[in-house]
Amino acid sequence: MSDCLFCAIASGDIPATVVYSDDQVVVFRDLNPQAPTHVLAIPRTHYTDAAALATAEPELAGALLAAVGKVARAEGLADGYRVVFNTGSHGGQTVDHVHAHLLGGRQLTWPPG
Ligand code: AMP
Ligand code: ZN
Repeated sequence: MSDCLFCAIASGDIPATVVYSDDQVVVFRDLNPQAPTHVLAIPRTHYTDAAALATAEPELAGALLAAVGKVARAEGLADGYRVVFNTGSHGGQTVDHVHAHLLGGRQLTWPPG
């Protein structure tokens, strides 16, 4: 999709610190990290949110979550971590290309703000 920041990161047109990629998924470090590990996992194909992705391509949604697990292991997050899909304006979504935030490396609090 044109004019999408994360499509541009997936294609390599905009640089990012990529920690994992395959033919379906790219995982890169968040520019404004909120935890010692804070990465974003995106499908290469543009979907607006997690439900749209899972409805259209459930295998791709599974691949996205599997990639999150691989990166969590690689980052040494054996004590746990959080996976967040901010969705829509009330959910705090600012980039309309579905992305899973993987946060870890410190004790996270609940409820979120
Ligand atoms: P959200 O608010 O859930 O849509 O998350 C968007 C995330 O993208 C935020 O945590 C931003 O810090 C992050 N972000 C924005 N631009 C970039 C970029 N060019 N590279 C990496 N992360 C980015
Ligand atoms: Zn996109």
